[in-house]
Amino acid sequence: MRSVIQSDEDHGMPELPEIVNLARQMNAKLDGKRIGRVQLTQPKCLNLRPERFRRRIIKKRIGSTRAYGKWLFTRLEPGENLLLNLGMGGDLRYHKSSKTIPKKYQFRVTFNDSTELTASFWWFGYVHLASDSDLPKHAMTSKLGVSPIDEDFTVEKLGSLLSGRRGAIKSFLLDQKNVAGIGNVYVQDILFGARLHPLRDIKKLKPGDVQALHRSIRDVLNRSIKLGGLKYERDLYGRNGRFGSEHFMVGYKTGEPCPVCHKKVKKVRTGSTASYICPKCQRR
Ligand SMILES: [Zn+2]
Repeated sequence: MRSVIQSDEDHGMPELPEIVNLARQMNAKLDGKRIGRVQLTQPKCLNLRPERFRRRIIKKRIGSTRAYGKWLFTRLEPGENLLLNLGMGGDLRYHKSSKTIPKKYQFRVTFNDSTELTASFWWFGYVHLASDSDLPKHAMTSKLGVSPIDEDFTVEKLGSLLSGRRGAIKSFLLDQKNVAGIGNVYVQDILFGARLHPLRDIKKLKPGDVQALHRSIRDVLNRSIKLGGLKYERDLYGRNGRFGSEHFMVGYKTGEPCPVCHKKVKKVRTGSTASYICPKCQRR
């Protein structure tokens, strides 16, 4: 599947399930560790000058980590928050010792027990720092929409987000200001699960469609979270996820039979992205 997705515009962009998985592993592994040493090799990834960044992060204690859209928010006690975005094809990796440190990394933290954490970006990623009082004003995350696996993401909430809107449902779902964490990989099966064509106009959605969409968002994301994310993405220990090609319903299945009606899945161009649809189940 990696080759299929690599040839597409969906290359290695972690979405919510992969980020949730990383957050869980960080909570299990890093919580309570104290930061001893920090290496920053690419100032462009930072939101502060490296010296200032280093000064503020050193000696802080790692608190809890949570997934927010495509970002990881880690508490640094006292008073700071580390915000990580792996961009495309980035790797966040835990190391028991320095033996496994990759040759190239943009961010490296050595904890007081000699274990380490590295972030390596293949394309572009971010390592930002925000104090508790600055966090709500952090430009790249303050406008993010609701997290679709949070309790407050209800059918009513989705309905109210869609109400009065127009335009294609797929663009709505990919816009991180509406719902945070869905990208062009999972959106394929999310739309299929709700039997919605990617270009369906929001204005024409019926209450039943909104309900089906809400259920499908939860189903697809939770299924992947249970499987540790996509097969071509890696976790904190460098292991691949288990959500593979066989778990997709129509995503990346051009020419294969639709699991519901057996008509052949088609790849179509929808605005700036590619979509995989069943032409019978997902009528425009
Ligand atoms: Zn079908």
